[in-house]
Amino acid sequence: MLGTRTVRVFADGFGGEVIRPGEPKYDAARAVWNGLVDRRPGLVVRPNGTADVVAALRFAREQDLVVAVRGGGHSIPGFSTCDDGIVIDLSRMRGATIDPAHRTAVCAGGALLSELDNAAQAVGLVCPVGVVSHTGVAGLTLGGGMGRLQRKFGLTIDSLRAVDLVTSEGGTVRASADENPDLFWGVRGAGANFGVATSFEYVLHPLDHPITHGTVVYPIERAGELAQLFTEISGTGPDELWLGFYIRLALPTEDFPPGIGGRPIAAVSVLHCGQPREAERDLGRLRAFGHPVAGSIEPKPHLAAQRLADVSSAWGHRFYMKSAFLRSLPGELVDMAVQHAHGIPEGAGGEFGFWSWGRAIAEVPEDATAFTGRTAAYWMGAEIQWDDPALDGPCREWARAGMADVGPFTTSGRYVNDVAEPRENARAIYGDGKYERLVGLKRIWDPDNVFRMNQNIRP
Ligand SMILES: Cc1cc2nc3c(=O)[nH]c(=O)nc-3n(C[C@H](O)[C@H](O)[C@H](O)COP(=O)(O)OP(=O)(O)OC[C@H]3O[C@@H](n4cnc5c(N)ncnc54)[C@H](O)[C@@H]3O)c2cc1C
Repeated sequence: MLGTRTVRVFADGFGGEVIRPGEPKYDAARAVWNGLVDRRPGLVVRPNGTADVVAALRFAREQDLVVAVRGGGHSIPGFSTCDDGIVIDLSRMRGATIDPAHRTAVCAGGALLSELDNAAQAVGLVCPVGVVSHTGVAGLTLGGGMGRLQRKFGLTIDSLRAVDLVTSEGGTVRASADENPDLFWGVRGAGANFGVATSFEYVLHPLDHPITHGTVVYPIERAGELAQLFTEISGTGPDELWLGFYIRLALPTEDFPPGIGGRPIAAVSVLHCGQPREAERDLGRLRAFGHPVAGSIEPKPHLAAQRLADVSSAWGHRFYMKSAFLRSLPGELVDMAVQHAHGIPEGAGGEFGFWSWGRAIAEVPEDATAFTGRTAAYWMGAEIQWDDPALDGPCREWARAGMADVGPFTTSGRYVNDVAEPRENARAIYGDGKYERLVGLKRIWDPDNVFRMNQNIRP
């Protein structure tokens, strides 16, 4: 328990903001994205810069406090908050600075995807990041970073040049291919374990024309043949073309025709980052598939696509998911997803998503980064969102049951940022070999396991 005087002395010498239980800002400051998570930290501190992060960490260690580090606050298990300990909330350390001549970006440790997207697109450049623009750059990058540009430009970590970290000892260190390359290896996939990242440097890629993006929706009865088409186009389409195949409820009901709204449907989403005329050519087979019940594929600014899910994925809903990497997408897996979609608890929005994988992701050798799962053909996730606490059990159970039988179709590794269980076995995420290497790094950089609010590598 933190003494009032102890906190006052720390706050007097701290450059940033200090928020204590009972203060008017406390409830907003302790909230995180997932409404399932309700924790009460002893203190929330908001550093203005690296020196404040160092001071906060030193204080936490002196007082033997559990440390939670917060970037964008979107951790699904709620790792960026804690009970009783200290939250080091980087929300005052925002922004992305672009160097157009060298095609690089530097993001502060608390930046959001929207800041990187907006700044890069302003000069016709892009970094491959996730699909909801209020997600934190830090957590997403440190775990890997999937997104709709991944087949062309790879995971977010594949565009990462360097990271500046405050270590558990309160020192600062830079990790890149040239400086501390071993740490740089670990940071790219297991990064939340090694320090507080205060800045990220990325290489950017040209993207100065409209992308082609949207979704076509079909009755659930066509799920099997649509999945077949999805796998074929994923195999033959260019790197510019990302596809997602979904089995989900048609929500909100009023957006769909009578008889479809509120019921399970099958859908394919695409993002083609080539020129619009190339996209039309490459989407010919999907366009010819027949009469969708809804369709929205059209050229648009990349930033418009990046913001589309911001409201449906807004803060405060309750959320759970499970995911896996697949070697193939056989019909029986699609049938299983269709069957489970009929069992989504009433009052919840659930979906099975399958993303085309490979290409630029697979061009990086599997052992080049801690991230594990580059050789898969598809990523698959069962995701569910709801608001009524009475549905907590049924919704979690729905996602678990939906993924229970996918084992035979999976490849090694799991995406750490998708793991919703707070105490998952990290060995299963990285595999034995990488896990042992990560333990070695953890013993060097965080032997006392100060950074343990994560899928933890035990030193
Ligand atoms: C709505 C939504 C959409 C998503 N979409 C995608 C997607 O398209 N692609 C994808 O790959 N993932 C996606 N994710 C998953 C996302 O990558 C993870 O939830 C990620 O951890 C969020 O990062 P954050 O900074 O917002 O989270 P936080 O909750 O702040 O942090 C997540 C983890 O990283 C640590 N951390 C945060 N900041 C730092 C830092 N500066 N230094 C060291 N450690 C830090 C935290 O301690 C915690 O362990 C999505 C998640 C949500 C909720």
